[in-house]
Amino acid sequence: MADYYVTDARVMAAALEKYKSKCHKTIKHRLRTFVALSRLNKKALRQFDDMQKGVITEAPDLWKDFSNGKIGKSITGTEVKSAFRAFIASEQGNLCCYCQRWLLNNGNAKPIEHILPRESFKHFAFNFWNLAVACVDCNGLKSADVWGGGDKLNVRDYPAPSSFTEMYHPRFHRFKDHVRFVRVQTNEHNITLYRGITNQGRKLCRDLLQDIAAKEVLINGNPRIKSSLATINQFEPEEGSALEKAFLELQEAFSAAAMKLVRPKD
Ligand SMILES: [Zn+2]
Repeated sequence: MADYYVTDARVMAAALEKYKSKCHKTIKHRLRTFVALSRLNKKALRQFDDMQKGVITEAPDLWKDFSNGKIGKSITGTEVKSAFRAFIASEQGNLCCYCQRWLLNNGNAKPIEHILPRESFKHFAFNFWNLAVACVDCNGLKSADVWGGGDKLNVRDYPAPSSFTEMYHPRFHRFKDHVRFVRVQTNEHNITLYRGITNQGRKLCRDLLQDIAAKEVLINGNPRIKSSLATINQFEPEEGSALEKAFLELQEAFSAAAMKLVRPKD
């Protein structure tokens, strides 16, 4: 079975080239955006080298600075993230990279996901292959954990697709090769059953998808919550606005509260 659908440098180069033509919504800003991102990537790697050599003990959070600031004179991090989100969401068929549910239309419901988590892999924060788009539930549930990649800690260059044998990698793996899922909808309930069919798929189900499915049952079983959430999700606050921030905080808090019921031990 072909486990990996990104297999060689040629395919990866073509994907990067495609992104280059879409990395900013304004054509004249694209080249500069792409160059600035490459620079940030190199800067993150330099930080990693300095940490390894003991030159510095703590590195500034480049991703956070990028998200809240500008790259170049007239390009904001918000614009670059927005274009990236649109590009990757379209590549993913507008489905969450992990649970394969539809991504909602507003930007705040499509967090950019660092596949090897940013907390432990700061030097991959701007690596094109380490980024995907997840739903709020998956992003929120995953963020604190390193669920794989133990052998990749302290590795400088981004690991090759074939080395992801311990974890599901949404940019390198094809979901259907690793997980089967069935969705059952009744008048009151949406129930999704996930079943891993490979090591990576089984781990993804254990670490994440079983809880996502449980949360779905919990929320859809409560008509008032279900309809309130549907109303909230209809709004499309402007990216970077105070309203978007408030919505995101509400969604995250709600998600965390629901997950507490699903995972009482955490
Ligand atoms: Zn998801």
